[in-house]
Amino acid sequence: MINFQYARASDVSDAVRQIAAEPGAKFIAGGTNLIDLMKEEVERPTRLIDISRLPLKSVEQTADGGLRIGAMVPNSDLAWHPLVEQRYPLLSSAILAGASAQLRNMASTGGNLLQRTRCYYFYDTATPCNKREPGSGCSAIAGVNRMHAILGTSEACIAVHPSDMCVALAALEAKVHVAGPAGERVIAFADFHRLPGDTPQRDSNLGADEIIVAVELPARGFAEHYTYLKIRDRLSYAFALVSVAAALELDGESIKDARLALGGVAHKPWRDPAAEAALRGKPANQATFERAADLLLGDAKGFAHNTFKIDLARRAMVRALTQAAKATPQSQSDKKIR
Ligand code: SF4
Repeated sequence: MINFQYARASDVSDAVRQIAAEPGAKFIAGGTNLIDLMKEEVERPTRLIDISRLPLKSVEQTADGGLRIGAMVPNSDLAWHPLVEQRYPLLSSAILAGASAQLRNMASTGGNLLQRTRCYYFYDTATPCNKREPGSGCSAIAGVNRMHAILGTSEACIAVHPSDMCVALAALEAKVHVAGPAGERVIAFADFHRLPGDTPQRDSNLGADEIIVAVELPARGFAEHYTYLKIRDRLSYAFALVSVAAALELDGESIKDARLALGGVAHKPWRDPAAEAALRGKPANQATFERAADLLLGDAKGFAHNTFKIDLARRAMVRALTQAAKATPQSQSDKKIR
């Protein structure tokens, strides 16, 4: 590992001041991804600014009936928080589908949003990677790309975003509150993460001198008809090949409203307004679900080793929407897919 300076931030303003003053600095909270990246010398910060003690650890109800989640709330605390379990079980379920209990105890809410891709080549500094070293090339496009994206790819990068939690936050239409030298601003979750385009080194639209202070959930939690279905190579401690966050509001047999977000298929949690529109007002049955899945996957494109993901994603969406409609969500302790 390289040498680096270490400093603690005393409050949010101090954190922003410190990061703005040193472009080579990085924030560290739980460190569950950054430390690995530093060990591999993928990240080489000149200074770590420790934000783990900032007073951003509370979960509070908002005036309009939503929840404001502090950026330092550990993933475990969030998943088991009574208000999240009762009102946003989709979010609890997605968090519990990710990583391991130990990692969830350390990982922070803000850090989960900012974790980096697990593309093997990104971690292997002996290989070209546009995300790690812009302009060097993408080793995955003609390499081993089993875990890579099928939607929203570019000629520069086909990596996927690794988070489970973010897939649920996308479906729930969360907002991200950030602070920077110019003050605070709010970013809609759909606009937070980026597609790779020709700047794959940038995962999100968070400024280099900004810090996430909170994630806000709107009042609607889809607590009755939801599921988070994660398909992976082994049943625990593995990233998604494909995951689906499905949330429905039903009026008898008919779908009044629908949210559908996918993980493991793109550089950001993937939603498609046309697919969701195709669910609204239709009967909650297999034919409706298949039509929506086909629409969402209309532009999907596989590479040498991951074409299987297209059919996998289609079947996972149909299964997830069926589970949501029946109010039989996927269990994250007994992982058998029903
Ligand atoms: Fe790098 Fe992206 Fe290509 Fe992976 S897919 S090697 S992260 S540029």
